[in-house]
Amino acid sequence: MSGPRPPTASEQLAFLRLLQRLMDEGSFVASYKFALLHAIADLCLVKGDDSGAELELSTSEIAAQFIRLYWPQVVPYSASAEQPILSQNTGRQAAIVRHVAEQRARYQGSLADLERSRSDWDRLLREVERTVRKMPLWKLQTVRSGRLDFLYENHESGQVVRLQPGVAYCFRAFYPMITDMIEGAWSQFVQQRNRKHLGQVVDLRSFLFGSRRKALDAYRPLLTDLQEGRCFYCEREIKSRGDVDHFIPWRIYSLDLGHNFVLAHPGCNSSKSDLLAAEEHLERWTERSRTRRAELEHGFDQLRVLHDWPKSRQIAHWAYGQAAEADRQVWVGSKVDLKPLSGDWRRILGAAGQPAA
Ligand SMILES: [Zn+2]
Repeated sequence: MSGPRPPTASEQLAFLRLLQRLMDEGSFVASYKFALLHAIADLCLVKGDDSGAELELSTSEIAAQFIRLYWPQVVPYSASAEQPILSQNTGRQAAIVRHVAEQRARYQGSLADLERSRSDWDRLLREVERTVRKMPLWKLQTVRSGRLDFLYENHESGQVVRLQPGVAYCFRAFYPMITDMIEGAWSQFVQQRNRKHLGQVVDLRSFLFGSRRKALDAYRPLLTDLQEGRCFYCEREIKSRGDVDHFIPWRIYSLDLGHNFVLAHPGCNSSKSDLLAAEEHLERWTERSRTRRAELEHGFDQLRVLHDWPKSRQIAHWAYGQAAEADRQVWVGSKVDLKPLSGDWRRILGAAGQPAA
């Protein structure tokens, strides 16, 4: 028996075609199928690697990702008293949306607080998991013309799915494109369900999935202290107001986790733009997260924001791996600009799929 191998170019193309058929031909009664596809893609980044190997995902991991995806979507969209929360189902409101909305109201919007509560979090997780197993998990790959079981085998029951060889590889290789497609289709679905209430809505997608210009001001005092008033990138003093920057650019991966934020000169920030930072910056970033972990995490808890260093590190590993694969250049500074990766990022981040140091 030979070990895993990455899928060939034609296998990757076949994967994308099947995914497209799933989106086009699958019947979507609730938005669960979009959430499921998104959740699988997210988990491939955090748990998978680029070997082409199979990947096992538990329904509880998938459920946790569902909660994170629906969390920002269950706040009232408008002042309309008739339907304060957007409908995500053709009939009555989707059960997961109701459960998540209930906890969101209870924890005043703070997912970090809910996760820390343990008992409420566990209860919500179990409820969502039950629905995931009953509703989308074994129906996702059914389209009008039959079954396209290319992602995982359909056992119709159980608490685990095993992604077939090459699937995690493809989700990682095409993550930005795939999630863009899912979010677009998901937004359209919600728009159609809520036409009566929404009218001519301008930007439903930003409401559902966040926009890159999110208010990050809350991080500024913590980062100013931590960086002693200096720019994360050029290490010179920030004389006026610094920008809170996503170290792994928001465009590459849009989850806001505490460790991903750094404070930078507005000039350094706009020069870096949507690029990955060079390996010397990556080294400083991982160093900071290691040596000042307790201080950082205490700060994040005080700010009531989510943080997960192992996950942030896995996402960085994925992002640098993809950049290396595509021979993309990385950003050095506003003066030097760009250079290729040396491969040092592998030493800095360690192996994918392994616990963070
Ligand atoms: Zn700077």
